[in-house]
Amino acid sequence: MLETHKADVLVAGQGAAAFAAALYSARYQLNTIIASESFGGETAIGGLIENYPGTPDIDGFDLMLKFKEQVDKLEVPTISRNLEAVEPSDDGRFICTLGGGDIVDAGSVILCVGRERRTLDLPNEEEWTGKGVSYCSTCDAPLYRNKEAAAVVGGGNAATEGAILLARYAKHVYLIYRGDELWRPEPIQLKVLSQIPNVRVLLNTTVTELIGTDLAGLTSIRISRPMDDHETVNIHPDQTEPMNKSREDDHGKDVIDLDGIFIEAGADPRLEIPDMLGLDLNDETGEVHVDRGQRTSMPGIYAAGDLTDGTSLKQTVTAASQGAIAALSAYGYVLAGEHHYEAA
Ligand SMILES: Cc1cc2nc3c(=O)[nH]c(=O)nc-3n(C[C@H](O)[C@H](O)[C@H](O)COP(=O)(O)OP(=O)(O)OC[C@H]3O[C@@H](n4cnc5c(N)ncnc54)[C@H](O)[C@@H]3O)c2cc1C
Repeated sequence: MLETHKADVLVAGQGAAAFAAALYSARYQLNTIIASESFGGETAIGGLIENYPGTPDIDGFDLMLKFKEQVDKLEVPTISRNLEAVEPSDDGRFICTLGGGDIVDAGSVILCVGRERRTLDLPNEEEWTGKGVSYCSTCDAPLYRNKEAAAVVGGGNAATEGAILLARYAKHVYLIYRGDELWRPEPIQLKVLSQIPNVRVLLNTTVTELIGTDLAGLTSIRISRPMDDHETVNIHPDQTEPMNKSREDDHGKDVIDLDGIFIEAGADPRLEIPDMLGLDLNDETGEVHVDRGQRTSMPGIYAAGDLTDGTSLKQTVTAASQGAIAALSAYGYVLAGEHHYEAA
């Protein structure tokens, strides 16, 4: 039988932002419900997390279990259904429809639904995630200290930054991009990249195959064209000599032995609910625009974590802190109807 639940705050999501939002919301004595069908978010599939303060070297799934345990102690109910629709009522509340048809009549809503990562859509990519295939160089680059070689796929800022960071750890780095020039990167990054001695940039190139075994994970990749020792790449006007810093034996090869590959092809914020509500988005990133209080453009609706433009540092620690801030704003709204959204 379909049910109607009543809450001060509905939190959509079961990742870092959502659990932090629910923790703070419940501690503000707000009647809180979490709705989401899948536990843990990206942190739970991120493998070893080395940079969450206070808990060094913890598996992402275990870290999320700790988040959940802390919220469970406050007896916050979780409904294992996704949020499918939100309709504002005249009295400032929200009629929220969950998968399966249950309704939550909520005083405010905190959206913590994250992003959808773009993949290469290659066989074994999913199976070998965490076994040589990664989607976050900021998170995993330090695992490649003194490793022989790693690659970054993509042509935007995240990929360029990833290659620069990875070059501090691995001996050889390949930056692989299908276009004929890197895509709108910051000039300073290009300058740094052009001066790094161990990054080879392969333009007009795609990854066509991930090679390895289920036991070992990824061991090499096949690319769409053989490498040429004579090819040069100019990526910055201040570059003293044209790059390409080839590794010994690169010439003629279309299979590159690697310890890991980082797919930095971007991620798309989950916008079904924000679009439904007509929330302001960031013009450049397409993320939900929030102000310093994690307020969206609609009074009573808050957003936190990777879904938002709150920070370009998309990490568990920032998602959690945004969730906490969103809960404080929701508290202000539920108690006094306060909502001072700063649009700029
Ligand atoms: C491979 C990988 C490794 C990483 N490693 C690290 C690391 O080492 N350190 C670090 O700090 N960060 C790391 N990150 C980044 C970190 O995981 C994210 O920044 C963080 O998970 C963002 O949290 P979030 O709560 O905003 O979103 P998410 O964790 O993505 O959670 C979103 C939640 O919303 C749910 N959801 C989706 N749609 C709906 C809906 N309609 N209704 C309800 N719920 C919905 C999802 O199921 C999920 O539970 C890594 C990311 C990846 C992909």
